[in-house]
Amino acid sequence: MTVCLQPDVIFVRAEVLSAHLSAINPSESPTLMSQKIYLAGKLVSKEQAVVSVYDHGLLYGDGIFEGIRVYSKKVFRMKDHIDRLYESALAIRLTIPLTPAEMTRALEETVAANNIVDGYVRLVVTRGAGSLGLDIRRTSNPQVIIIADSISLYPEELYEKGMEIITASTIRNHPGAVSPRIKSLNYLNNILAKIEGTDADCQEALMLNHLGHVAECTGDNIFIVKNGVLKTPPTDAGILEGITRNVVLELAAAEGIPVQETTLIRHDIYVADECFLTGSAAEVIPVNKLDGRVIGGGSPGPITKQLRARFQKYVREA
Ligand code: PMP
Repeated sequence: MTVCLQPDVIFVRAEVLSAHLSAINPSESPTLMSQKIYLAGKLVSKEQAVVSVYDHGLLYGDGIFEGIRVYSKKVFRMKDHIDRLYESALAIRLTIPLTPAEMTRALEETVAANNIVDGYVRLVVTRGAGSLGLDIRRTSNPQVIIIADSISLYPEELYEKGMEIITASTIRNHPGAVSPRIKSLNYLNNILAKIEGTDADCQEALMLNHLGHVAECTGDNIFIVKNGVLKTPPTDAGILEGITRNVVLELAAAEGIPVQETTLIRHDIYVADECFLTGSAAEVIPVNKLDGRVIGGGSPGPITKQLRARFQKYVREA
């Protein structure tokens, strides 16, 4: 960790903080020499992008974030991400020091300053520096950090053949503890499940909720197709209400595919005709196996392919 000591304050580089706080989906580390990071109202170099080690974002994962795609220089579903960010802030009683309109402008400026054509933006708002205790009344200056970068997707082969996943033994956070609707900087719940996945040589892992129902994967929402009906768990299953999930639900409805937000158990996935995951980074990715059970024919099904193609077209037009 790169730490610079200055008279009264200890700083840690924002890129180091972001590396600690990210890892939800694979994004390449910054490579652009002239990369500009938005921090505290300014676009600064990576070297200048520093926040306090007393920031509760670092000390406690106390903060919120968004992972956002840029297609053809345009921030995808900007309003949905801004809305979700401010809803997460409200839920954790964090006052973001920018209005939604100012945040929108900051995002657009950061994307433009980094010449991002197709890429990924990580928007982070931390609680700000405080004492070593938990009391948020002792914190000040929530930090807004915007990192615009390139993105590395899952290998193309997985999109063509489908991805194998396992069910993690770690359940998704109980909504009465930390609601999965909050896109919080504290992703340990998901990281613990992801470790189970990578230990099993799987890139994703399915998480059940406290009732044993299907919730979502560690960084993606899940869908199945059964007898021509597209099904996904409802938000009260304890999931992040994914922006890609909502786009896919809209596109499916527009394509005349019947859609149900309904409780699913693992058995429903084992016996599904098709299964796929959605997320800003992954987009629409087919799943061909869960816990060693081959799903459908073992390769991406027709509705999955149709929705993936429709999604690819939509992101270029939106
Ligand atoms: N669930 C979780 C836990 C996530 O972290 C994400 C985002 N990576 C998603 C679902 C997908 O959400 P979105 O489509 O908004 O990226």
